[in-house]
Amino acid sequence: MSRRRRVYEGKAKILYEGPEPGTLVQHFKDDATAFNNKKHDTIDGKGVLNNRISEYLFTRLNDIGIPTHFVRRLNMREQLIREVEIVPVEVVVRNVAAGSLSTRLGIDEGTPLPRSIIEFCYKSDELNDPLVSEEHITAFGWATPQEIDDMMALALRINDFLTGLFLGIGIRLVDFKIEFGRLYENDMMRIVLADEISPDSCRLWDIKTDDKLDKDRFRRDMGGLMDAYREVARRLGILMENDRPEGSGPVLVK
Ligand code: UDP
Repeated sequence: MSRRRRVYEGKAKILYEGPEPGTLVQHFKDDATAFNNKKHDTIDGKGVLNNRISEYLFTRLNDIGIPTHFVRRLNMREQLIREVEIVPVEVVVRNVAAGSLSTRLGIDEGTPLPRSIIEFCYKSDELNDPLVSEEHITAFGWATPQEIDDMMALALRINDFLTGLFLGIGIRLVDFKIEFGRLYENDMMRIVLADEISPDSCRLWDIKTDDKLDKDRFRRDMGGLMDAYREVARRLGILMENDRPEGSGPVLVK
């Protein structure tokens, strides 16, 4: 049996060579890391849930015309994606103060922001993904002004759509991180949504109780991470539960 070529291994995912040129297989691991790898654990089944949640969200985003790298889910842990050149900038969108923004600016966690705020971080583990400005991004050639415009416009559309989607299932989308890639087609290049969107990369709070349904449960040693991720999947209507047929859609919370 021939082994697949591993193209890249990150903290929570592995990328393998895909079945056709221009494709890759994105494999979701059970590893959880925080504080730039200083905290590490394996959480049984996390990769399976993130694969499904990310598949669901990317599909819904595709449906409203957001270009993404996602092609289709292959199995429990893997999805087929288009090969893109990742822009080395993490785009964070915030609706409510939390995490590093609260620490940096001294704003209490949970304070609604006057408007959605976009931040950029330079993707570098050695440097701890530092916050950077558009000036840094263009001066150092990480992305062009046009690409920054495209990423910001897409990020705001994604934020509006996901905020509404999560609100419908009783979840507040506090903030999230996304990544973009350059997709080359013939002589054309366009910016598409890449990587993943899952409770690993979002802050999701229950509307009524403010319960955290995201990776902060791991970062802050709160326990119950799998129950929280399962709850998100269940509310999205994608958990294979006996009482709800698979893919029967979001559960509206009244
Ligand atoms: N985030 C992420 N990967 C990172 C850093 C942040 O997915 O390497 C997400 C995080 O889950 C949160 C948002 O981006 O939803 C904002 O994170 P923040 O800057 O507050 O950083 P943190 O407090 O997680 O260090």
